[in-house]
Amino acid sequence: MCVFCRAVAGQYSFDEGNQSANDLCNLALIFSGLELCLYPMAPQPQDSMPRSWKKAPLRSRQIEGREWWLWGFAVAVTLALTAGIVFLTFFGDHTETNPTYWTYLREWVRGLAAFVLLFDVYTMYQHLQLQRVRQRLAERDELFQLITENAADMIAVVDSSGRRLYNSPAYQKVLGYSTEELQVGSSIDQIHSSDRERVLQAAQKARTTGEGQSLEYRMRHKDGSWRTLESTASPIRSVDGELEKLVIVNRDITERKRAEEMLAHSGLHDALTDLPNRVLFADRVQHALMRARRHSDYKFAVLFIDVDEFKVVNDSLGHGAGDELLVQIARRLTVGVRDTDTVARSVVVDPQPTEDGLARLGGDEFALLLEDVLNPIGAIRAAQRIQEKLTVPFDVGRQPVVITASIGIAYSSNSYDGAEDLLRDAELAMYRAKRTGKARCEVFDSTMHSSAVRRLKLETDLRRGLERGELIVYYQPIISLRDGRIAGFEALSRWQSPEGMVSPADFIPVADETGLILPMNRALMLESCQQLRLWQSQFGCSPPLTISMNITPKQFAQPELAKEIGATLVRTGVQPNTINLEITETIAMGDADCALSVLSDLKALGVLLSIDDFGTGYSSLSRLPRFPIDILKIDRVFIANMTVDHDSHEIVRLIIMLAHSLGLKIVAEGTETEDQVTELKRLGCQLAQGYLYSPPVDARAASALLLRSYEKVTS
Ligand code: C2E
Ligand code: MG
Ligand code: MG
Repeated sequence: MCVFCRAVAGQYSFDEGNQSANDLCNLALIFSGLELCLYPMAPQPQDSMPRSWKKAPLRSRQIEGREWWLWGFAVAVTLALTAGIVFLTFFGDHTETNPTYWTYLREWVRGLAAFVLLFDVYTMYQHLQLQRVRQRLAERDELFQLITENAADMIAVVDSSGRRLYNSPAYQKVLGYSTEELQVGSSIDQIHSSDRERVLQAAQKARTTGEGQSLEYRMRHKDGSWRTLESTASPIRSVDGELEKLVIVNRDITERKRAEEMLAHSGLHDALTDLPNRVLFADRVQHALMRARRHSDYKFAVLFIDVDEFKVVNDSLGHGAGDELLVQIARRLTVGVRDTDTVARSVVVDPQPTEDGLARLGGDEFALLLEDVLNPIGAIRAAQRIQEKLTVPFDVGRQPVVITASIGIAYSSNSYDGAEDLLRDAELAMYRAKRTGKARCEVFDSTMHSSAVRRLKLETDLRRGLERGELIVYYQPIISLRDGRIAGFEALSRWQSPEGMVSPADFIPVADETGLILPMNRALMLESCQQLRLWQSQFGCSPPLTISMNITPKQFAQPELAKEIGATLVRTGVQPNTINLEITETIAMGDADCALSVLSDLKALGVLLSIDDFGTGYSSLSRLPRFPIDILKIDRVFIANMTVDHDSHEIVRLIIMLAHSLGLKIVAEGTETEDQVTELKRLGCQLAQGYLYSPPVDARAASALLLRSYEKVTS
């Protein structure tokens, strides 16, 4: 354009037209400047990616619009100016003698020049503005480029058909593929087949709705392993709103996923055996319950497996060995379960991988979910098979360990609301199996449930009763058959609950199992020792009065038992040889070494020791002489029948003979008739206790009995 202007200007290099020629030359210069200014504003070819994708299209569209407007306007002005000059030069009335014409032309050209000058200034201003915007965009592009090239996240740009346009270098770092390799392969092929459909759907949705969503999927690493990616797609639209590209930001969350999975695993699995824990097991049982509700012919069973006497392993071989044994049990159960599976299902409806149904509930307790068990017999057979497998000796630290297990079975029924109910019932059945001799299995029935509920209530009430001081001591006299006077008392607990008197036969076993027996008997011992001191000082009889107290299995297993009793004796100032501790035959005849050691500790206190309910348990008579005992109490069953039943009489006679030969005293429990007393005296029994003399009574009534007894003796 400037060249053209200069050419036009060159034609006016005559004298009169000098001024006009100068003006035109100026005009040409202005246009040169204008053109120079406009040149950088002409639309540039698009840079290669990356651009500042999200906002750049709008800004560059604005810039381009402005540039085209300026450019078009400049061309229009130039054309108009050129046309005017051409017209004036070639077609106008421009005789050299017409000065008005030249004056007019000069004015016109000056006006035009001023206008162009103004326009030029405006253009310069616009240009500067555009330059600034463009510079900012370039800087932002650079920044974005820097970010994408160095980002740990993988950034990809794909066109609307899914073709890759750009992949950031992070792809190489995370997935091992170079940009060239990525261009060759299809991104879809690298996605895990199970995730592919989901990704395609999400991509399709992003394309049609323009809304990118976040999703997780697995992509193959170049080395063949799978990486988990978290991906977000954002659309880029064209000027007319059409989706042009998708920007996809992929984050490698493989490690996070792994950590999450590990956490989830440890939350649902037992750390020692890696078997599912109670939470996961309950979840599986819940699913089985739901399935049973949908399909009436689907039945299942929950087996609660508890290792018998596991404590002995821990105590004798140490906790490390105990853990090792548990791991081995878990392993054997897992293997055993596979075989059991077929045993449990007489007819397989829908086989399930039952190894999944095995769990460790804690300690030495395992549980098994047996699916598709047609009836409880199938479950019993499965349980017996497991028990058989467990009886094969384990090798723990090169030492053979033999164990047995008690198994409780709860069979699915419509009455179950939740998994915990089934587990509870299976556990109750397991306790029944333990109580009835261990190494057995029991199927839960509803009576177990009601008795368990009763028992639970009793336990709660007893705990409360103990706190409120509802437990009191009753005393039953023990009579010397030689002179008929009271030789001592047996202290027996009574529970005056708000609902009435509760029999010790009901609450003593509960107290023993829950451990409540310990505080209970501590209180009983303290009170009865104080009472004994009082009676001894009041009646001063010789030999001194004694008090007998019962020791339960739980107490007997207390390592501190002897120390505690010793402390009570010191505290109350009672003579140890006036205290008689009664241990049942079953406790005494349990673990011989252990029993002997506890009995020796107790004997070292100087107290008397009795074997209670003698004749009912399984006594090893050969052991009796080794035990430091003083008295045998013949069980009341034999006394009750001795006058009517020859065998009972013989047993009583033999026990008395045995006691005499061992130098032990005999107490006949449950003496109710004079005939019994006569016969007992004839056989040489020294002491008797029973309703004939008095039932257990409270301290005041016992004092009255004592008073009468001593009055009788002295009178
Ligand atoms: P045990 O030690 O054999 O106590 C004797 C039981 O025989 C008492 O029952 C007593 O009331 C009952 N008895 C006494 N004479 C007769 C009789 O002529 N005929 C009949 N049929 N029964 C008679 P009780 O008081 O119900 O106690 C039952 C068992 O509970 C006791 O048996 C004892 O083993 C245990 N026990 C009671 N109180 C305590 C306690 O405070 N601590 C502990 N550890 N055990 C206790
Ligand atoms: Mg007793
Ligand atoms: Mg007894």
